[in-house]
Amino acid sequence: MSRALIIGAGGVAGVVIHKCCQNSEVFTDICIASRTKSKCDKFRDELQDKTKTNITTAQVNADNVPELVALMKEYKPDICINVALPYQDLHIMDACLECKVDYLDTANYEPEDTAKFEYSWQWAYRERFEKAGLTAVLGSGFDPGVTGVFCAYAQKHYFDEINYIDILDCNGGDHGYPFATNFNPEINIREVSAKGSYIQDGKWVETEPMEIKRVYNFDQVGEKDMYLLHHEELESLALNIKGIKRIRFFMTFGQSYLTHLKCLENVGMTSIEPIMYEGREIVPLQFLKAVLPDPASLGPRTVGKTNIGCIFKGKKDGKDKTYYVYNVCDHQECYKEVGSQAISYTTGVPAMIGAMMVLTGKWKRPGVYNVEEFDPDPFMEALNKWGLPWTENFDPVLVD
Ligand code: NDP
Repeated sequence: MSRALIIGAGGVAGVVIHKCCQNSEVFTDICIASRTKSKCDKFRDELQDKTKTNITTAQVNADNVPELVALMKEYKPDICINVALPYQDLHIMDACLECKVDYLDTANYEPEDTAKFEYSWQWAYRERFEKAGLTAVLGSGFDPGVTGVFCAYAQKHYFDEINYIDILDCNGGDHGYPFATNFNPEINIREVSAKGSYIQDGKWVETEPMEIKRVYNFDQVGEKDMYLLHHEELESLALNIKGIKRIRFFMTFGQSYLTHLKCLENVGMTSIEPIMYEGREIVPLQFLKAVLPDPASLGPRTVGKTNIGCIFKGKKDGKDKTYYVYNVCDHQECYKEVGSQAISYTTGVPAMIGAMMVLTGKWKRPGVYNVEEFDPDPFMEALNKWGLPWTENFDPVLVD
């Protein structure tokens, strides 16, 4: 019997809520709390007659620690699942410390005024969580998240050392719009318009945005252009996986997305520097978010599949070895099951599983951890059970 406080009521939260309600044995009680309470109530109204999980809702501004603390003191959750935005991570961690609640999120903290993606701010909480006897799991979505669990699984079962990792994130879905983002537009555009980078021989190598392009033929999706991006899990995996010489992250983008993005960048619409407009300050990227389609509305119109996974090259018993593990997810199947497209689904399912790992004691360890620091086996088993089955290939095509 456990109580989870879910913060956020957007695309990813919707999937977390559905999945917790499918898993009432573990999640006997959930409270959905977000800035706009009507969105929380909508999920409750849709699900409360179809699940044994008791659902309550609340309004909370997660940038306000005293408000979070008051809510946690009243609801008394065992874990807080943070699926609001990266800006709220530290505030929610502060409230968890004060109220003795375990913590889990899907994206690293970002300061609102700089697009900077690193774990330093959250790793600085390690000692405080350890002393309080609380567990914080960082990045339990798909990437970061499942990709880290895939790495831990490869390390545990197949390799003595892993020298090369390529994380490949392919979205072969089509929503029919010339330009839309599959998760929060502000966070997505900050990520893809930042400089690219990868880790080689223990050092970060920086590239221009979208400078490095490769083509890869993805199982069940086909050939796609993919581009090297900076991605937060590179930082923790380079420390936690033994023998890494190089680790990179690639994501696929269609030509229409890239052309629109370039144009929006060129006219200044992706900037996070505030400007004055008709006497008030606005942030161009936040204005752009307001005119773009809401990612939560893409579900019914998105067709096709995602394929996300990791390719490893390393050594086992002195011999070279390669291994590829990936999940394929169908946008329409996700929509039928939980009313969301596959990007929200592939993020929300691992968030529920990560919380279940902590609540059932499998990943309960005081401190602040990235997912690859825990035993991957129960998580891998749960992926198969809860909607994200994985496929292995021991002779994959490598990325040059
Ligand atoms: P959405 O924009 O759809 O939802 C965000 C939700 O958070 C909204 O309900 C919003 O409220 C709420 N929120 C924002 N600010 C506050 C606040 N101050 N207090 C309370 N609630 C707040 O985003 P997504 O669902 O697409 O993404 C959620 C998270 O998942 C993000 O952190 C994103 O980076 C992460 N993510 C991780 C992935 C992974 O694989 N690891 C992949 C995709 C996303 P309101 O409705 O009022 O705006």
